[in-house]
Amino acid sequence: MDFQARFPRRPTRQIMVGSVPVGGGAPVTVQSMTVTKTADHEATLAQIYALAGAGADIVRCTCNRPEAAEGLARIVPRSPVPIVADVHNSHRMALAALDAGVHCLRLNPGNIRNPAHIKLVARECRDRGVPVRIGVNGGSLDPDLYDPERGVTPEAMVESALRELSYFTEVGFDLVKISVKASNVPLMIDAYRRLAEVTDHPLHLGVTEAGPPPVGVVKSTAGIAALLAEGIGDTIRYSLTADPVEEARAGRWLLEAMGLRERRNVDLIACPSCGRAEVDVFSIASEAMEALESRQIPLQVAVMGCVVNGPGEARHADLGIAAGNRRGHLFVKGQNVAVVGEDEMVDTLVEWAELICEQGPDAALERARGMRAEAVRAAEEDRRRNLAVLGSDANGAEAAVAGIRRGRG
Ligand code: SF4
Repeated sequence: MDFQARFPRRPTRQIMVGSVPVGGGAPVTVQSMTVTKTADHEATLAQIYALAGAGADIVRCTCNRPEAAEGLARIVPRSPVPIVADVHNSHRMALAALDAGVHCLRLNPGNIRNPAHIKLVARECRDRGVPVRIGVNGGSLDPDLYDPERGVTPEAMVESALRELSYFTEVGFDLVKISVKASNVPLMIDAYRRLAEVTDHPLHLGVTEAGPPPVGVVKSTAGIAALLAEGIGDTIRYSLTADPVEEARAGRWLLEAMGLRERRNVDLIACPSCGRAEVDVFSIASEAMEALESRQIPLQVAVMGCVVNGPGEARHADLGIAAGNRRGHLFVKGQNVAVVGEDEMVDTLVEWAELICEQGPDAALERARGMRAEAVRAAEEDRRRNLAVLGSDANGAEAAVAGIRRGRG
């Protein structure tokens, strides 16, 4: 069995966002946000369904005007996942979102600053049992807390969150999760670490305005994964300049990769290719990824460029295929089971992946029983052929090193 670290989880209190628990040892959840006009409730619902299908557990929609609140009233009863209303500047929009029946509010302490308004909203949330995310954002920090010399600091972001929390505490409301997002990864990590020291409220992680993929994905992963590995974080959002479905998928992939959520998607491992490769590994790997991901195959599947090293390098995969002399060598748990034509490699992987998902790897090995001897023989033949043609130094590295050494002498 593959090594899987168990990351510690910071003890936090639990809140319920609709039917989804956040904190208190619940699985880390994935969030995303719609980019449609919330007033266009049909388009927004279509996007919410797409996000839920891609792995979002909770979806946020903006509530920036009365028409958006009316849209929320139509969206909430038909949504497959809990809905959070994103509110800036106007406490009236927060109250309208509550009337629309949302499962959670996100308030930005940097732009709803009147304590009387904040407490009014908090009382309403308390009476209705609706939680709030205090969503501090480095880019819209309360101007009082902005340091003219140092700019936005982690201390100021934490201070903003705690100040908002104190208004809620005053009215006896504590169904609160908190975020202290920044677009600067080290700043965001520092702010969350400080916040985790002083509160047991669940934390919502994110690198705000991370930008388009792939850089946005890298920045988000750097910040979110660093904190999750320390046990900090109860729910996450990738903020990408892209179709929000990409956010939900990235969030889900990260949690699966870290062993923080059960595997729902394929874990495709593919060799980086080298001078020994007998197929276009990049194309086959991306075709296989697309086919297996769309079917939500929760297996580790390997695509390897040659049969010399491939099966050995991927022996822990549930299933894999290695190329050799215009054909593919299929292996299950490191054992050769079948030989297929080059054009059939991806279709064959999908067929056997579905078999393993439905009936388990032993059933796959049983199916291959009559073919295994021939599969092993063919793989060995192609392995020897590859070695004979390319030798043991397929990339010519050893020859180059020898040349360098000769030159030195
Ligand atoms: S040796 Fe074979 S499996 Fe390994 S990187 Fe090269 S082509 Fe891929």
